[in-house]
Amino acid sequence: MTAFWAEPDFDAHELVQLVHDRASGLTAIIAVHSTHCGPSAGGTRFWHYSDPAGAMRDALRLSRGMSYKNAMAGLPMGGGKAVILADEQRIKTPEMLAAFGDAVEGLGGRYVTAEDVGITEADMVAVSQRTAHVSGLPVTGAGSAGGDPGPFTAYGIYLGIKAAVAHKLGKDSLSGVHVAVQGTGSVGGGVARLLARDGAKLTLADINAARAASLAAELGGVTASTDGIMATPCDVFSPNALGAILDDEGIAALDCAIVAGGANNQLAKPQHGANLAARGILYAPDYVINAGGIISVATEYLARRDGRTGDIAEVNALVAQIPGRLEAIWQESDSSGVSADVVADRMAQKLIGRG
Ligand code: NAD
Repeated sequence: MTAFWAEPDFDAHELVQLVHDRASGLTAIIAVHSTHCGPSAGGTRFWHYSDPAGAMRDALRLSRGMSYKNAMAGLPMGGGKAVILADEQRIKTPEMLAAFGDAVEGLGGRYVTAEDVGITEADMVAVSQRTAHVSGLPVTGAGSAGGDPGPFTAYGIYLGIKAAVAHKLGKDSLSGVHVAVQGTGSVGGGVARLLARDGAKLTLADINAARAASLAAELGGVTASTDGIMATPCDVFSPNALGAILDDEGIAALDCAIVAGGANNQLAKPQHGANLAARGILYAPDYVINAGGIISVATEYLARRDGRTGDIAEVNALVAQIPGRLEAIWQESDSSGVSADVVADRMAQKLIGRG
């Protein structure tokens, strides 16, 4: 058996806790990658893994990703992630959520949880009955931070696309700039609406074809097939659906100057960042451009912890710093010849004291 420490995804994580609660049937992993910048923060994933090793891989990989994302967002938070191993029926009970809340509480604030795939706001409310180290709770009043992070993620991506268009195309307006948007859900739909307001030309695709069509009709755009969207001749390709779409085939198909979107883990393999650069395509590292949601979640948590109500203006002010961070990455990449994804990783590693 391979030693745990030799696992390729183990990156000197500060803590990896296996949680089992016999009474409720909860089995979970909580991974704290780094608390260098502050309490580790990252959502809880509720997922059925046919091989439990996949759950460990996710916890290790995603918690490291949160360290990088939170550091690059300028948040006083480290990186962590939890995975609850669902059974085949994906049964989730109040008792399991209570036991999970107790496990988070047991870490004394080293890990702060929130929603991720398979976990709802109502689940987080249940967890909050057992621990204060939780975020992503319902909004408490008009203008206060919290609730659905999607709109903040979309706003950061919109600002990032504007910055990319200025950097690569030398344009200070999105008017007439053609953006192909893959995925028109919470994030992609929000991005498309903001782009349309600035006069961008839109091509939209979604596996939910009716959703893409109705948004295109509302915004005056057109639709493309989900197979064809990556090859659409355009200025900006904005992936807002799946990860790992930037593989050999996907990159070869691209007919754009810029890739800038919110999907997590867009590069299929590390070398694909260099492949994009070799094609002369400007890449906005995913965890930098899509940080609006975690900025909202973290602002909500920090305000509650300090006995205040965080407000939306505070969140938007932090999200507005995303384009400046991207510009710093692109400038460093231009001057060093190192691809933008690697520049971002190095900056993040330095910020978490591992550079
Ligand atoms: P969502 O479920 O609201 O929307 C995803 C959309 O993508 C859906 O409309 C779905 O039908 C569509 N889709 C799925 N597969 C597709 C395909 N092959 N081609 C075209 N469309 C496809 O999810 P979301 O919250 O908008 O998140 C989108 C992406 O952004 C995910 O990768 C997510 O991890 C990432 N992300 C989201 C947030 C957030 O705040 N919601 C924050 C950071 C990153």
